[in-house]
Amino acid sequence: MNWNQKASVAIIAFAACSAAQAGNRGITASVAAEKATLGKADNVTVRLTLTNTSAQPQLILKWHTAFGEIEESLFEITRDGVKVPYLGAHYKRGAPTAGDYYLLQPGASHTVKVELSDMYDMSITGQYTVSYSARSGNLFGTSERSVGEVKSGAASIWIDGRLPRGTQSDALAKAAQPPAPAAAGLAFNKCTTSQQATVTQAISAATSMASGADAYMGGNLGARYVKWFGSVDAGRVNTVKAHFVAIKDAFQTKPITVDCGCKKTYYAYVYPTQPYTIYVCKAFWTAPLTGTDSKGGTLVHEMSHFNATAGTDDWVYGQSGAASLAISDPAKAIDNADSHEYFSENTPGLN
Ligand SMILES: [Zn+2]
Repeated sequence: MNWNQKASVAIIAFAACSAAQAGNRGITASVAAEKATLGKADNVTVRLTLTNTSAQPQLILKWHTAFGEIEESLFEITRDGVKVPYLGAHYKRGAPTAGDYYLLQPGASHTVKVELSDMYDMSITGQYTVSYSARSGNLFGTSERSVGEVKSGAASIWIDGRLPRGTQSDALAKAAQPPAPAAAGLAFNKCTTSQQATVTQAISAATSMASGADAYMGGNLGARYVKWFGSVDAGRVNTVKAHFVAIKDAFQTKPITVDCGCKKTYYAYVYPTQPYTIYVCKAFWTAPLTGTDSKGGTLVHEMSHFNATAGTDDWVYGQSGAASLAISDPAKAIDNADSHEYFSENTPGLN
């Protein structure tokens, strides 16, 4: 679809495709705002177009395309030059399989409409920029070994918001405050009696994994560290140490709520700004209690996402992707939730 043929109002807000860069397989992205000026009752809708400018068919991981329900942070948004944080969820999924990819034929484009204001706080008046940024391991195929990236230029939108220009976002203010001190303990939401029993065991498994990981980080680092976090570097080691101190502390001393209401196929998800509520989904219930991709490990993965603990991201899912990331990009491995999980599960065991 050619946006230059659309109404003039769209052209004002049109952001041109960036030139093909190394690492994007010739897939380019553009973001166009539906309207360049919005009022306080307007949804913030943009059109995202991905185009395969290469001469070969290309695959792209659907989770990062916005071609379905949006379940990742796919956009970089600023208001008056300041980053607007993503308020959506971070998940634990299995490693991607062939069915998780969208095929773009040579020269083909695909466009979707995306509503942004339920994932980003856009209620404050100001000049916004919106660009698409997909960065992930396995972005272009299951055997991809490095982190691929597709970025668009930025579209500009003026929003006359519900709140005056310069207001601090509620969500940000909340995130900046330390969570109110409350007694440690486990609470449940939407969990049956038998689910409550299972979750209680899983929390206990996660607590011992986190304590084990923390204890390991206090000793001599060997193959176990290198396998999941890459070469030993003092700065990175300190970061990982701090992560496991915080994760262990959260399991041992913070009030944790587990919500069993999710019916999706993933393992689990959390909102990083909302400690310590963990939503468990279908794959959680069939996972083993301990070991690789277990219930306990899933809880460690999710606990690592909270900004109050380690604030990790999901760069890659799955053991083989995580092991490759440790080699290709250790700085991302120490920010990857599954890497923390596999390090904690330590299956098969390494020293
Ligand atoms: Zn995750």
